[in-house]
Amino acid sequence: MSGRFDVVIVGGGVMGCSVAYFLASDPAFGGSIAVVERDPTYRTASSALSASSIRQQFSTPANIALSQFGISFLRSVSDHLSVDDDPVDLGLREPGYLYLATEAGADILRKNHAIQKASAVDVALLTPEELAARFPWLSVDGLVAGSLGLSGEGWFDGYSLMQGFRRKAKALGVTFITADVVGMDRVGDRVNSVLLDNGERLDCGVVVNAAGAKARRVAEFAGIPLPVSARKRCVFVFDCRDPLPACPLVIDPSGVWFRPEGAQFICGAPPPADRDPDTDDLTVEHDLFDDTMWPALAARVPAFEAIKVTASWAGFYEYNDVDQNAILGAHPDVANLLFCNGFSGHGLQQAPGVGRGLAELIVHGGYRSLDLTPFGYQRLLDNRPLLETCVI
Ligand SMILES: Cc1cc2nc3c(=O)[nH]c(=O)nc-3n(C[C@H](O)[C@H](O)[C@H](O)COP(=O)(O)OP(=O)(O)OC[C@H]3O[C@@H](n4cnc5c(N)ncnc54)[C@H](O)[C@@H]3O)c2cc1C
Repeated sequence: MSGRFDVVIVGGGVMGCSVAYFLASDPAFGGSIAVVERDPTYRTASSALSASSIRQQFSTPANIALSQFGISFLRSVSDHLSVDDDPVDLGLREPGYLYLATEAGADILRKNHAIQKASAVDVALLTPEELAARFPWLSVDGLVAGSLGLSGEGWFDGYSLMQGFRRKAKALGVTFITADVVGMDRVGDRVNSVLLDNGERLDCGVVVNAAGAKARRVAEFAGIPLPVSARKRCVFVFDCRDPLPACPLVIDPSGVWFRPEGAQFICGAPPPADRDPDTDDLTVEHDLFDDTMWPALAARVPAFEAIKVTASWAGFYEYNDVDQNAILGAHPDVANLLFCNGFSGHGLQQAPGVGRGLAELIVHGGYRSLDLTPFGYQRLLDNRPLLETCVI
């Protein structure tokens, strides 16, 4: 399909579909919108391979604000995304996140707690005795504190959230095109059109880069460097014979995390830095489970001594190499190319707030609800990283 659209969104994952939905539902926007997605089966999209959890426990106030809006959106998702009165069921559960700390991590846990309290996050610092009383299945050996989210944290069906945005955007008149974006016509400080692999061309008013782990390639089409790489993250599903009542998403000081998933559990961990390249490969690395995750799991939860892995998968973090935070809005050299990238493992929960913010930027020329300017490209140019220390 050749033609002209006021807004062309490259990538139809949760971010692209969220931007499309918020734009199309803004009464102040009367323009045309196209979402170009190269693979509508979403086989390797991060939105389809996510752990789909939401937390309020960040170290950056702007991230906290995004998650505060995120949870309110998820709780009332049918009010926003239902089509023909069909409710949207995301299976949202809110058992909290539990960050555990040894002496080495206690200061940062307390510092983050102060930041979170200042942003009205419903979070409690617990002593080892309080942790043991609340979670009798947990070994508190070596721990000095735990930070438990008391509300607003948990998990949901992220794939259905993406499909909900997509379905609603379509119902609101957004055009979805199946094609690979392979180039852009840039003249001076503007992108005039987007080139597709089928030889067609879309003229555009604004382009949004929502290409997930492939965002750097798309930015290069306009001659802009983007420090986003594709980092493989493996998730393992396992059975445990004993129930773990009220189990939250637990982040062990080793970096290993786990949470219930239906009657089973899932877990993961960041790989060692020397095994974390930019990659196209999604082969599951089973030795990471055997060598790193299982020993940490069994040490933290004695019932995990006898677990059985039943499934596994790998997906890409769209990893911001500089400060592990989103990169939103334009680069000063190209006014009409907006970045929506670099979420580094927390994009699903941020999709509602980011989609709304980018729609405001397009329609009103600035943020109206949450101020997302801290995530602007300018910070990278100024060497002012917005470091997020709560990265899983
Ligand atoms: C294992 C794992 C666990 C995670 N856990 C969580 C979590 O618990 N909570 C959370 O909030 N987040 C989590 N995330 C992160 C979250 O899933 C992502 O941040 C989010 O899905 C990113 O959405 P996106 O739309 O930017 O990217 P994607 O979903 O990857 O979508 C980008 C789309 O762009 C398309 N595309 C790329 N290039 C082109 C092109 N040139 N032309 C056309 N189309 C193109 C791709 O095909 C893709 O469908 C996790 C991610 C992984 C991998």
